Amino acid sequence: MWWLSDAACIGEDPELFFPIGTSPPAADQAVRAKAICRSCPVRTACLEWSLATYQDAGVWGGLDEEERREIRRLRRRAVSDGRALEPAV
Ligand code: SF4
Repeated sequence: MWWLSDAACIGEDPELFFPIGTSPPAADQAVRAKAICRSCPVRTACLEWSLATYQDAGVWGGLDEEERREIRRLRRRAVSDGRALEPAV
């Protein structure tokens, strides 16, 4: 992961990026993690890595697991329909 050394989350609490459940505190945790990702210079690389390696927990590249599942679903559909792939971010 060449991009890790430039990550905006270096020095942040790693648990912030892995909220558990859908409770209001967990949702707030995800919002705070995503805010850090928005300023991250390697967001795209992080997101693509998480998609390619099927990370199924946590916030990666500014998206939570449900949002990444949706991207994978849309990409699978695009491939099966013979359409070009859209960038994730
Ligand atoms: S996009 Fe978010 S999770 Fe990924 S390296 Fe950047 S700050 Fe960390």
